[in-house]
Amino acid sequence: MRRPLIVGNWKMNTTLSDAVVLANSVKRAAEDLDSVEIVLCPPFVWLVPLAENLENAPKNLTLGAQNMWFADSGAMTGEISPIMIKDLVKYVILGHSERRSHFGESNALINDKIHAAFTHGLTPIVCVGELKKLQEEKRGRGRPNRTDTKSDVNHQLEEALKGVSKEKAEKIIVAYEPVWAIGTGHAATGGYAATVIEKLRQVFAKKYSKSLSERVRILYGGSVDSKNVQEFMYQPEIDGVLAGGSSLKAKEFIAVCREAAGRQ
Ligand code: PEP
Repeated sequence: MRRPLIVGNWKMNTTLSDAVVLANSVKRAAEDLDSVEIVLCPPFVWLVPLAENLENAPKNLTLGAQNMWFADSGAMTGEISPIMIKDLVKYVILGHSERRSHFGESNALINDKIHAAFTHGLTPIVCVGELKKLQEEKRGRGRPNRTDTKSDVNHQLEEALKGVSKEKAEKIIVAYEPVWAIGTGHAATGGYAATVIEKLRQVFAKKYSKSLSERVRILYGGSVDSKNVQEFMYQPEIDGVLAGGSSLKAKEFIAVCREAAGRQ
């Protein structure tokens, strides 16, 4: 049984006081939502105060980092190492499409980061998804050109899993996040996301085993809100969501979590 996971990616948003208020609101709500696991991913600078704030939080609420470098230390101006975050967070988002497109992160770099995360006891939330924007005429909820999906998504996952043992692969969380759906208000349909996710499970099945592929948690991300989250949770292939914009408003994010927990 795969426990549903709801991840809030705050990106480069919030002041310290916004962050504390938001985290405290989610903390209060998390108490009666224990059928889902909730992960908040604030900017790095708020990890220390929020880790203190969430010390007595319900067990189903933890923190994640939005990124990290792979080396333990060194001449890497502006970067954060796994050593610096390992006592503050349980999860780390790696390979987000914004890191791939704005910072030129390659599949090989993301693979290095995945190995580093495991070395330091962090669970990677690995993002994969079509990197191309939807053609104008195809804009709207649904699906992009099939070729984009095939060439990008499975390949990104195969590269991410290079050299990852069976024991570790089982712990990876994958987030299928098509770039055309991120921050656009044009979420994929639940059915379409489930089809792609089923193909991602086949990548795990081929490389490891069918039973492992059925144990890995795979999320959907891209314009998820409290109105559409049920559509994704309803799909047996989909184990939760990664929310960006909707995770920044306490009421909305709590509604996403409540919907996902079937508590509305
Ligand atoms: C994201 O940050 O990965 C994301 C899915 O953002 P949004 O929910 O705003 O589309």
